[in-house]
Amino acid sequence: MAYDPMVHPGPRLPAVGAEQTAVRIYEVAPRDGLQNEAQVVTTDDKVELIERLVRSGLTDIEVTSFVRAAWIPQLADAAEVLARLPRREGVRFWALVPNVRGLERAVESEVRCVATVMSASETHNKKNLNRTRRESLAGLREVIATAKAEDMRVRACLSTVFGCPYEGEVPVAESVGLCVDLLEAGADELALGDTTGMGNPAQVFAIVEALRGAGVPLPRIGLHMHDTKGTALANVLAGWQAGVRTFDGSVAGVGGCPYAPGASGNAASDDLVHLFSAMGVQTGVDIDALAGAGVFLADRLGRSLPGRYHRFHLGAAPASPAAEGGPSRARHTA
Ligand code: MG
Repeated sequence: MAYDPMVHPGPRLPAVGAEQTAVRIYEVAPRDGLQNEAQVVTTDDKVELIERLVRSGLTDIEVTSFVRAAWIPQLADAAEVLARLPRREGVRFWALVPNVRGLERAVESEVRCVATVMSASETHNKKNLNRTRRESLAGLREVIATAKAEDMRVRACLSTVFGCPYEGEVPVAESVGLCVDLLEAGADELALGDTTGMGNPAQVFAIVEALRGAGVPLPRIGLHMHDTKGTALANVLAGWQAGVRTFDGSVAGVGGCPYAPGASGNAASDDLVHLFSAMGVQTGVDIDALAGAGVFLADRLGRSLPGRYHRFHLGAAPASPAAEGGPSRARHTA
């Protein structure tokens, strides 16, 4: 479906203040962010990071992944991280499960929410997951059915919806078909991934409208945008205008995708919170507390992180943040 400005006149900003304009920020830094860092963060530091994210007001945090440690050594401590996290009313900790074995480990860890992943494009699916889309879907049907039998909440992530680094454009109809398949398999919600930052706002409108046309309710759609080429916030705003209310972010913009050439830069959750808060849209998140978690993470990684609000926050920090246990300003200024 092509973007037609006569069909989608913009901006279509809904009135703010009403309950339905509140957004949910789904935090991915502990999993998506850290798995793409060369440095392995200690379990202690992961737990501290996640506790800081919880204290900021985030309700949905993807905390780890039950993949084989040989594949992603950064997340080898998945069970220990989950065991050490204090459960809190209203906070959902999510774990990524690639297959039935991963789901079994998730069940053993008593995590109640799991995320699955496959790609909208065949080539990316093969390179990222080493199987065809058809094989992935068959496997995920089993994973999702088992998770639902365990009364877990399931989020199905679909990568490369907005473009594939190998194939280029991904037909909207193929993404929509897979989304419908995943929901029919029992997934509670979807996350549409712009894996290498190829998306644009017109495309976001077109894909959300196509999903609605296929009968997918807006509350079941989430957007996972990447800022690889600087379009994440514009795409998020377009998604919000189209009615989406769940957006993935990674504090301070940590993480990317190691299987997508040149891809980096998850949308920064602090950028998202700032954007929505500035418009009067409720996020439930304290921006200063969230930015503080980003500073903590940058300090533990020992490198500067790309989030725009993160960098602003560092520049605006008091002259001696070390007094608060934070890093010196100079270490993180690019
Ligand atoms: Mg990502």
